[in-house]
Amino acid sequence: PFEVLVIGGGPAGASAAIYTARKGFSTGIAAERFGGQVQDTMGIENFISVPYTEGPKLAGALETHVKEYDIDVMNLLRAEKLIPAKAVGGYHEVVFENGASLKARSLVLSTGARWRNLGVPGEAEYQTKGVAYCPHCDGPLFKGKRVAVIGGGNSGVEAAIDLANIVGHVTLIEFDSQLRADQVLQDKLRSFANVDIIVSAQTTEVTGDGEKVNGLSYKDRESGAEHHVELEGVFVQIGLVPNTEWLKDSGVELTGRGEIVIDEKAATNLPGVFAAGDATTVPYKQIIISMGEGAKAALSAFDYLIRNEAP
Ligand code: FAD
Repeated sequence: PFEVLVIGGGPAGASAAIYTARKGFSTGIAAERFGGQVQDTMGIENFISVPYTEGPKLAGALETHVKEYDIDVMNLLRAEKLIPAKAVGGYHEVVFENGASLKARSLVLSTGARWRNLGVPGEAEYQTKGVAYCPHCDGPLFKGKRVAVIGGGNSGVEAAIDLANIVGHVTLIEFDSQLRADQVLQDKLRSFANVDIIVSAQTTEVTGDGEKVNGLSYKDRESGAEHHVELEGVFVQIGLVPNTEWLKDSGVELTGRGEIVIDEKAATNLPGVFAAGDATTVPYKQIIISMGEGAKAALSAFDYLIRNEAP
């Protein structure tokens, strides 16, 4: 058994494990894929103090840093179930897909999230070649160019406002007959001269020249007519899905959208169980934020362990 077991090996999990190992606690990380979303990222330009890096390079650096400490890294291990301790200070158990199970007095849940895909032709093919999911990350790459934002909820409209300040032109495409974002955001978006809003539109394809994106096709859901817009970038903003399905019957409180509810100390509703990063209710999902949250969860785990002896 461990004193601290971290589930998930992205920026949040790596940070949490380093912090608890540095406190002298026996620490393990179990991850389905060490590195997390960072493995799927091309250029990273907003990891402060590192002007430019690439996903696989940052994932390698996470691993190198973790290996500086006596941390038991268990890669390719997918958690399926959490059985909470029966008493405060006792051992929690995590059961994995392969039938193995691990115990620890404190847990840090950091299983991250995944962007919801459109699932149309061209989307996967042109990912990082014009198809993007994170305006904070990739917006500046489209300076002066034409982009579409798919999705008229708060995240889509916020992305469109953000991008309208940077890019040449934004086309916002919403499937429904009206935008679902807060009115104040809609008003703000409509104040830009370089933004078109198209509703009742079903995106049918992302087109490209084989190298990069050159447009997007959509169907007018009222008339059935097919349209094509020429542009250089497509931002998909139809939801970020937390990887928390495995926690459903665990007793850990989740929001309706599946985010793990945490307080300002990264504590969940279960004693000794902490959570960090994109899987949680923390606002703004970014690498630097996930790392900070991982450190916070680890320090809270430390605080919990020194106050609660094993029963
Ligand atoms: P994740 O990185 O999602 O890691 C989750 C970890 O949990 C992984 O190891 C995963 O395998 C594991 N896991 C999931 N489910 C289970 C399970 N059941 N059992 C065991 N392990 C599990 N952010 C920036 O700041 N700058 C950028 O430029 C940037 N670009 C991005 C580009 C792309 C294409 C994407 C997808 C994201 C980008 N982001 C960027 C966002 C950033 O990657 C995330 O905010 C960050 O990785 C979140 O870290 P995390 O540790 O919370 O979760």
